[in-house]
Amino acid sequence: MVEQVSKILVIDDERLNVQLLFQALSDTYSILAASNGVDGLKIAREQQPDLILLDINLGDVSGHEVCVALKDDIITKDIPVIFVTAQDALEDELVGLELGAVDYFTKPFSIPLMRLRVRKQIELKQKTDMLEHLSSIDGLTGIANRRQFDIKLEESLRYIDRNHRGLSILIIDIDFFKQYNDKYGHVQGDSALKAVAKILRKGASRPLDFVARYGGEEFAILLLDATPEEGYWVAEKVRKSVEKANIKNEGAIDDKLTVSIGVSHITADHKENIDAKVFIERADTSLYKAKEAGRNQVLASYELSDTFE
Ligand code: GH3
Ligand code: MG
Ligand code: MG
Repeated sequence: MVEQVSKILVIDDERLNVQLLFQALSDTYSILAASNGVDGLKIAREQQPDLILLDINLGDVSGHEVCVALKDDIITKDIPVIFVTAQDALEDELVGLELGAVDYFTKPFSIPLMRLRVRKQIELKQKTDMLEHLSSIDGLTGIANRRQFDIKLEESLRYIDRNHRGLSILIIDIDFFKQYNDKYGHVQGDSALKAVAKILRKGASRPLDFVARYGGEEFAILLLDATPEEGYWVAEKVRKSVEKANIKNEGAIDDKLTVSIGVSHITADHKENIDAKVFIERADTSLYKAKEAGRNQVLASYELSDTFE
């Protein structure tokens, strides 16, 4: 496996400071730079750096505000932030650390010391990422497990706001899977689960899409910043992909392995009235109806607009 070079984002309005940090760190890390807070937040979201070196006196917004925005965003909240600033008052350091920064460099700083502290934070981030990964992955399929799904759903519901078009949930259940296991054995059953997980991952592959194993032969997909139509469309796409994969399940619909899917959707306007449990229940009820209606189909808990095909 090729080891990836860690990325550091420098957010500083003074070119010289950026240059200094670039010279000190670019032999080991890939350096990204932003000269104001707005660009910094955008790059942080898009590039997912492993560490952010953040100036306090920025041109547009203060570094403190940028830090708060980073920690408040589902996409950037786990990126460690180190403040790099000329402000050496104890008070500023305290505020910076209280806001969620992991360290604080006061200019002028010793380059070797700064490099060492950066390295320690990057190493810590790698270890945390690894542990996070191991505790959140389903051993059989390699996709997220139920624990991670529950966390992700809570976070997504908390974070959807009017900048997002909404959150779709898809609950996917394999049709006649008991029969599959009985006929072909558990080992082949496990292979089928892996194959379905792979199809789902391919079908929901945008950066904000999230695919998990929800339970035995049930999966769940969260689509953040999606419309109700997109939720339904992705569900229909993966249902068809499973059908097309032509995994033999003799005695089932067309002697193939198929899935039924229940879909629900929520927008920021309605999230006050709906918690995670209700949201899942809605998708589950639609899934149950899809099973009742003959399986190998998608049903949504909402009406689709007439313009949608
Ligand atoms: P339906 O179409 O109504 O969904 O019927 P079904 O047979 O799929 O549903 P049921 O809930 O009765 O059976 C689910 C089966 O999934 C039971 C179990 O044998 C199988 N299963 C659950 N987890 C695993 C697993 O990790 N590996 C394998 N091989 N099979 C599993
Ligand atoms: Mg089931
Ligand atoms: Mg089933």
